[in-house]
Amino acid sequence: MNEISTEDENSCDEGDKTANDMSTTNRLESKVRSYCRNFPVVFTKARGATLEDEEGREYIDFLAGAGALNYGHNDPLLKEKLLEYIEADQIVHGLDMVTGAKQAFMEAFDSRILKLRRMRYKIQFTGPTGTNAVEAAMKIARNYTGRQTIVSFTNGFHGVTLGSVAATGNSHFRDGCGIQPQGTAFMPYDGYMGEGVDTTEYLDKMLTDGSSGLDHPAAVIVETIQGEGGINVASKEWLRSLEEVCSKHDILLIVDDIQVGCGRTGTFFSFEEAGISPDIITLSKSLSGYGLPMAVVLMKPQLDVWKPGEHNGTFRGNNLAFVTARAAIEEYWRDDSFSRDVKRKGQVAREHLDRLVDLDETGTLSARGRGMVQALDCGSGEIASRISHLAFERGLIIETSGSEDQVLKILAPLTITDEELEEGLAILDESVEETMAEVRLKATGKIHLDVQVLA
Ligand code: PLP
Repeated sequence: MNEISTEDENSCDEGDKTANDMSTTNRLESKVRSYCRNFPVVFTKARGATLEDEEGREYIDFLAGAGALNYGHNDPLLKEKLLEYIEADQIVHGLDMVTGAKQAFMEAFDSRILKLRRMRYKIQFTGPTGTNAVEAAMKIARNYTGRQTIVSFTNGFHGVTLGSVAATGNSHFRDGCGIQPQGTAFMPYDGYMGEGVDTTEYLDKMLTDGSSGLDHPAAVIVETIQGEGGINVASKEWLRSLEEVCSKHDILLIVDDIQVGCGRTGTFFSFEEAGISPDIITLSKSLSGYGLPMAVVLMKPQLDVWKPGEHNGTFRGNNLAFVTARAAIEEYWRDDSFSRDVKRKGQVAREHLDRLVDLDETGTLSARGRGMVQALDCGSGEIASRISHLAFERGLIIETSGSEDQVLKILAPLTITDEELEEGLAILDESVEETMAEVRLKATGKIHLDVQVLA
């Protein structure tokens, strides 16, 4: 999420276009653009965990659409179903009207995901972005309880529209609103106060004390692993305790599973191993399985107090997404073999990161994560950006996250082959090694580590 400025910001001269020429983007696209600043090439093809640019150069993708491509780019089986559907002139846009594709998705989701986990939820199709699902989830919680405050957590990220950004901690996003985001209160996430401090006890105390200044909230919204916030992993015990505090104080629990759901941690929902039962769940990103926009809110049936059309949107019926979402569920979630494979690969990535940390003489690096969301905390945004930059030069796409962009995040497709995973990790090794050598030299005053110059 770091933003390194590129040249030609205000240039109007297009000239002849050559391969990997970004002049059109630099000339026409708003300055708000972000990922393309760190990976400044023109991508033209992708398959599985590999992206290709205009010059035919290949990159291993450890970003995977920021979690939207758990099954990789252009999964052949999903593509086949999609092409068949398009070829047969079936419905593409349907508002929220009933289509065969939509019903088939709901049936597959209910039988293979919900029922198998003994989960009973109503499905709300929202506008197709994660932030719209979060908006809807917060509205339901407020409308159902008649209360306004939503408790969110330090370093939480839930989107950038006015309601969801109010639950997002990072001032970079909050400052962009032009007005003060409202209706939320922030509490310390698991680990925020250091090891051994149970921050749910603090929440409990704030909720018990009528003079704490915290209004009785409608809901708590939480990520089980904070994706944009720096891969902060909540422990199972903390999540269970959070659920207990919520039920003790009659507060709804919303789990935002937009980034780490859909199999990222090795189970379909990221909270399964904690054994909690959220009142409301938001899903988006990898739900369609193919990178097509789609988002849902799952709510316990009694919470479904919506009036018809009260939260609507033209694009609630992306039928192409329903087709691939159903195919992804039927292909990858028909038994537990995919789940086991994700955990195994996550272990491979983690062991690799642990070795990197052991080799780091400066003591700067640390590793954390769960399943196939693993991270290398580099201690500073400067170091993480430099590693990401060097990795990109060597053919690996890896992004930073965290309050200072200090955390490198491995978010590879879950379908990545063992060879590609090893190859990507080897590139990461080399890039870390080169950067840490520079850091050691910098400490002796012999060089200047300047990511701006190198970008
Ligand atoms: N919630 C979480 C946990 C996310 O990680 C994100 C995006 O990164 C969102 C919500 C917002 O999703 P979108 O970018 O599709 O609006």
